[in-house]
Amino acid sequence: MTGFRAVVIEKTDAGQSVALKPFDEADLMAGDVTVRVSHSTLNYKDGLALTGAAPVVRRFPMIPGIDFAGVVESSSHDGFKPGDAVVLNGWGVGETHLGGYAEKARVPGDWLIALPEGMAPETAMAIGTAGYTAMLCVLALEKHGLTPDMGPVLVTGAAGGVGSVAVALLAKAGWEVIASTGRASEAAYLEGLGASEIIARDDLSGKVRPLGKERWIAAVDCVGSTTLANALSMTRYGGAVAACGLAGGMDLPSSVAPFILRGITLYGIDSVMAPRARREAAWARLASDLDPALLSGMIKTVPLDEIVGQGQEILDGKVRGRVVVEI
Ligand code: NDP
Repeated sequence: MTGFRAVVIEKTDAGQSVALKPFDEADLMAGDVTVRVSHSTLNYKDGLALTGAAPVVRRFPMIPGIDFAGVVESSSHDGFKPGDAVVLNGWGVGETHLGGYAEKARVPGDWLIALPEGMAPETAMAIGTAGYTAMLCVLALEKHGLTPDMGPVLVTGAAGGVGSVAVALLAKAGWEVIASTGRASEAAYLEGLGASEIIARDDLSGKVRPLGKERWIAAVDCVGSTTLANALSMTRYGGAVAACGLAGGMDLPSSVAPFILRGITLYGIDSVMAPRARREAAWARLASDLDPALLSGMIKTVPLDEIVGQGQEILDGKVRGRVVVEI
């Protein structure tokens, strides 16, 4: 048996258990590329998987970890050869396909993209799926034709992983960023990332009016529910909102008013099945636009044997910025 260390989720009649243990390479799933994983990260979805708080894991045993960076160990895929540095986000890894909290991963090569030139694997995972999703949101707003001279942009769940990277990217691009957070203690952190104004989470989580005072031309929403509904109702005429998260709930108690009376557009952002060209565009922009100094201020690094305990932390909204897992 060729073994390596992995975090493994198992399910029995007694419930779900999760532990760091040896895993046999022969039990890895089908794929034409085997990667020696050096780094992974903690995403909200990983918190759901580690704790079993929501049924994101669809196969047992499962190695969680929806993203990873590492070096190709063996490959029969045309696009990759041993020694290539690669990054993976999504595609059901950590949900239906064995994931990144392990020393090795085997995946279809079509799921991998080359690590951008000059980017270290720990940087790629400091960005992680959260940062890549933030970039997808920014790209959607840009594609809509929105520019910083048109007005401010709102970021909700701002002190979380997606939110932090979104604030940094948008501020760097010249936007006036309004950051919404439930943690007033993180105001200085958010200002350090470039936020111009901090508003309280409660400002957006209350009763939703069909149309509110027009405040921002664009928004990146990580929260959903009444927060997204309020964000829509306060978006200026012709603006757009990129919705990627549900940290506050899956519902959307909105009305058609923002759409039919203010011409607002709501973009749904999915990182998991995003086509390759969009992924490569997002990673190229992250490599060029994200200030490494800001990124290093956003991260906490934990070894593989401590990641299990972090699952509840992210669900409780206690994680600031990004958690990098060093394998
Ligand atoms: P984090 O937990 O790091 O950030 C979420 C943030 O949302 C928290 O930090 C907190 O920000 C805020 N928040 C948490 N709970 C609540 C609540 N009950 N009401 C209002 N705000 C709340 O997670 P990520 O940044 O990794 O992910 C954010 C969301 O995006 C998640 O829902 C995740 O599932 C989703 N996501 C979606 C992807 C996609 O492909 N569409 C990809 C990646 C993530 P603060 O303390 O500042 O208020």
